[in-house]
Amino acid sequence: NRKVVLNQRPQGEIKDGDLVIKQEPVRDLKDGEVLIKTLWLSLDPYMRPRMNDSKGYMDPIEIGAPIVGESVGRVVESKSPNYAVGDVVTSYSGWQEYSIIPGDAPMVYKVQDHGIPLQAYLGVAGMPGRTGYCGLVYVGKPKAGETVVVSAASGPVGTVVGQTAKQLGCRVVGVAGGEEKCRYVVEELGFDECVDYKAGNLEQDLKDACPNGIDVYFENVGGAVTRAVAKLLNSGSRVPICGYVSAYNAEDASKVETPFHVFGAMEDKPEHRFFLVTEWQDKHQEITAHLAEQIASGKIKYRETIAEGLDNAVDAFKGMLKGKNFGKQLVRVAE
Ligand code: NDP
Repeated sequence: NRKVVLNQRPQGEIKDGDLVIKQEPVRDLKDGEVLIKTLWLSLDPYMRPRMNDSKGYMDPIEIGAPIVGESVGRVVESKSPNYAVGDVVTSYSGWQEYSIIPGDAPMVYKVQDHGIPLQAYLGVAGMPGRTGYCGLVYVGKPKAGETVVVSAASGPVGTVVGQTAKQLGCRVVGVAGGEEKCRYVVEELGFDECVDYKAGNLEQDLKDACPNGIDVYFENVGGAVTRAVAKLLNSGSRVPICGYVSAYNAEDASKVETPFHVFGAMEDKPEHRFFLVTEWQDKHQEITAHLAEQIASGKIKYRETIAEGLDNAVDAFKGMLKGKNFGKQLVRVAE
């Protein structure tokens, strides 16, 4: 069993030797356990803060342990009545070719067939998609005619936020890095506008794209984008704080100006709070089915970037934190 483990905690950007590949035989199953072969691995920005020693909203990954992550896999052996050989499941099995889980482990779901590719259950029909949907609908509470801005607009979270907000009748403005991503967000995903924050004119471009100000800002990135957005927020606006990826490689997290600092310091503060997708865990199946149907019927479009094999996972992950991915970043581990 080959796995990517945390060899030492990265300082700033991930460097050679921080994450290494280890090989171990797969042990025999005990009663009640299930052996899963990983097919697809999801790479998600939140994995970077978990490599640090500080406790965030999740515990740090231990040195020597595989990097945590959700995957789609097939049951290849089962000593649990809950799973049969051949079942396809999503589980938090980490960056490894095989994993053993107890048959009653939480957060493991059998994939229902909605006629969409399996790996979509790690992206727009998976955890990032549910994050975008729930954060927008339940925290952002957008109303028809309002202006919704979402950063990291071409990624799986932003993709679902923007297309859902369009369906709700909002004016939708994306923020993304580079002309190609912005063109895709408008032409393919149907956003009204998309601002390229790398083009050098962020504040003015955002102002031009939001002539009526901003009512909902779905926060994915932090940094300069957050500061530009803050100037345009209308009274009574809502800011679901989903993440702030621009700070994830910071050497000293305590020195980062977070979205909480920026929005909390405003005189007319927006309603802002950090949320976790797991707040709506009881709606997991319902929202997954909704998103999968939207994908199957072409109402939600998306892109993905695929790295081949576990050996390329680390480079793909480093690239994603710099925006080298275009759409959901995945690793194809096995056919
Ligand atoms: P993406 O696939 O969108 O990948 C991250 C993107 O962030 C990059 O592609 C890049 O896009 C952008 N980015 C990187 N660095 C910067 C920077 N310095 N300034 C601005 N943008 C930057 O990721 P996801 O859709 O999977 O996740 C989006 C956000 O959602 C993340 O913050 C993540 O942590 C959060 N999240 C939160 C969850 C929760 O429960 N709260 C659950 C899941 C995700 P570009 O090229 O456009 O800059």
